[in-house]
Amino acid sequence: MSRRYHADYHMHSMHSPDSRTPVEELCRTAIQKGFQEIASTDHFAFDAPGYPVGFFNLRYLEKLMADIEAAQKQFEGQLIVRKGIELGQPMVNPALAKSVLESFQFDYVIGSIHKIGTLTLSNVAYNAKNVEDICLNYFDAMYDLADEGDFDCLGHIDVIRLYAAKQGTPVDMMEYEEQLIPIFRRVIERGKGIEINSTGFRQEISTTLPGLDLLKLYRSLGGQIVTIGSDAHRAADIGSGWSESAILAKQAGFDYIALYEDRRPTLIPIES
Ligand SMILES: [Zn+2]
Ligand SMILES: [Zn+2]
Repeated sequence: MSRRYHADYHMHSMHSPDSRTPVEELCRTAIQKGFQEIASTDHFAFDAPGYPVGFFNLRYLEKLMADIEAAQKQFEGQLIVRKGIELGQPMVNPALAKSVLESFQFDYVIGSIHKIGTLTLSNVAYNAKNVEDICLNYFDAMYDLADEGDFDCLGHIDVIRLYAAKQGTPVDMMEYEEQLIPIFRRVIERGKGIEINSTGFRQEISTTLPGLDLLKLYRSLGGQIVTIGSDAHRAADIGSGWSESAILAKQAGFDYIALYEDRRPTLIPIES
């Protein structure tokens, strides 16, 4: 009988400025929670002048990769540890993004947008008046990323929904169907995918990013490639919401999740 295969494809270690968890602890917890595979996906943010010196440079990546390689050896036979990275708004500096991705042999690259210009999406005071403009600007930037960026899956594609909901401003992402369709089409044409990010289960929206409606839309356009990731910034959150996300993926019509090695996807059946 085959064992269910669970792979958490989005998490942050102490190398990210917003996490204090060693890679080793991420791995131990993943094993304890019954996961067979993880992708460690620390941040590499572009246009991030507010961050302390020491992040988001070559030395940062060297330390991070060394830790992942050590974990790969330490947990060999117990857990597959993939070398991932979450690029934040890489289209701000495509030349730097290219050199980052050429510096190391990554297995999996998430393309995310956390900032538009000087606006940090998690810090905006959202209200019914400004949310539409912010969403339109965000989806413009997301289209550029989908169209020309180097990534494997787009990260938390409707993340504004999460931040706005925290402030009591619900956003129906299907109102942006016109913006989302071309993004999904480019992702599909380019053989890339989107992630199903379960962080929302730990917050006000109580569901995934994107939600069931957007997942169905992506599927209806021919989308096949999805990964599932917790976006854990501490060990306790590893794998949380994974099974619920898998159930939603199935409801949306996906039978497989993607795993990545050397940036090539393999599809395996989803077992919640
Ligand atoms: Zn992110
Ligand atoms: Zn993340």
